[in-house]
Amino acid sequence: LSVTARRLSSGTDADESTIVVSRDVTAEEQALRARDDLVASVSHELRTPLTSIIGYLDLALDDPAIVAETRDRLEVAERNATRLRELVADILAMSASSRHGAEFDLIPVDTDIATIVRAAVESQQPRAADHGIRIDSSGLRDGTAHVDPRRLRQVVDNLLSNAIKYNVRGGTVTVGVEISATSVQIAVADDGPGISRSEQGRVFDRFFRGDAVRNSSTHGSGLGLAISRDIVRAHGGEITVSSALGSGTTFIVRLPRKVGSAS
Ligand code: ADP
Repeated sequence: LSVTARRLSSGTDADESTIVVSRDVTAEEQALRARDDLVASVSHELRTPLTSIIGYLDLALDDPAIVAETRDRLEVAERNATRLRELVADILAMSASSRHGAEFDLIPVDTDIATIVRAAVESQQPRAADHGIRIDSSGLRDGTAHVDPRRLRQVVDNLLSNAIKYNVRGGTVTVGVEISATSVQIAVADDGPGISRSEQGRVFDRFFRGDAVRNSSTHGSGLGLAISRDIVRAHGGEITVSSALGSGTTFIVRLPRKVGSAS
């Protein structure tokens, strides 16, 4: 049961009154939880057979004797199975975060932020090269914050992957880290097509994909930024986007250096 009370005042003490609104939210919450549980268990059940399918496809592709036509077909199957596995991983991460709410399952330790960012840049370098994109990571300040390194890496991976995926050929991705006494700031900027004002308010929604990308060849679940926002909020931080159509996009993550302290 949710109860909200609001005191109404017309200015004079004599006219004060209170409105009480009560609403039964248990059924609603139960339905949402049942849906999350179903999605989580189906996704979980899909993971094992998918891993097996991808494993056998990889093995088949390793065979030098297969004819070119068969190889092409197996490669399409392998690409799609891999996309499906990524989607399942995103859904599982999402349902874990909605279940744990703001708590998530963070294991915060003192972490050198630039080290996390450098490792993420290194792992994305081959993809960037494939897209003809240069990553500029010359502006990384050293300094530590009390964060969950695995979760923060997931956020940086996601922002970098988007900045590459939604960039133009020959474009640049610029990554920066700033540290102050109380907070750290990670910025990921690209010179891609940008995000319209109306879509900027929706990019962190679950399953949201922009109009321009839905019909393009880029693939995605629309969950990456929703998961990133949950992770950042669980640390007591915030993630924001600034962009204009035609002038690229910058995502900024701000985290308190100590979880629970003011940033
Ligand atoms: P996905 O990339 O799987 O679609 P995300 O949650 O990571 O999902 O992003 C949601 C949407 O936000 C994308 O589909 C795209 O429309 C938009 N978007 C995210 N990052 C960028 C970016 N760097 N430049 C332009 N659009 C972006």
